[in-house]
Amino acid sequence: MAVLNIYNSFHPILNKPTKYIDEIDDQIINLANNMLETLHNTGNGIGLAANQVGESKSLIVIDLSEAKDYKGAKPIVMINPSIESFSDEMIEYEEGCLSIPDFYENLMRPAAIQVQYYDLKGKEYNISTDALLARVMQHEIDHLNGILFYQRLSKLKLTLAKNKLNKIKNGTTLPNYPFVLPNGQLVVQTVS
Ligand code: ZN
Repeated sequence: MAVLNIYNSFHPILNKPTKYIDEIDDQIINLANNMLETLHNTGNGIGLAANQVGESKSLIVIDLSEAKDYKGAKPIVMINPSIESFSDEMIEYEEGCLSIPDFYENLMRPAAIQVQYYDLKGKEYNISTDALLARVMQHEIDHLNGILFYQRLSKLKLTLAKNKLNKIKNGTTLPNYPFVLPNGQLVVQTVS
């Protein structure tokens, strides 16, 4: 297994839809395992989409095992996930993103969803979920569609966040994991 580089949200690969996975081969299985290791390496990440590690594929990993109310939960790998329905009820949660370091905002989204996906063995799932898991899934499935969570903020919030986002875009704000800037440059922070 290997820790992969995480791409900055302003890199073009994160701004376009990912490709549907036709076959779950060793390459996909390795990618999923490496994504889980990459997620754990960040220290506080709970979800990661394949395009965040530079692979334009419809694949997500989620690990809530350290999160309140989900302690010990097994990691989830989702292939070709799609949201079948959203609840009318909306809820506000604070979101962050490994591609947008040090940026957190409250965002309204549907409280519950029905989602369909496949696991690494090709088994199909149709599940209903709410709370944090529904939130992470919506955030990550947005990634697969080329959508970043700040694009869902109100115009006012987005205007207020502009300076912060510019610092992320130009590489002034960096995370403590290997990070690929919008121009493709890899930055590895050394801890002093
Ligand atoms: Zn994200």
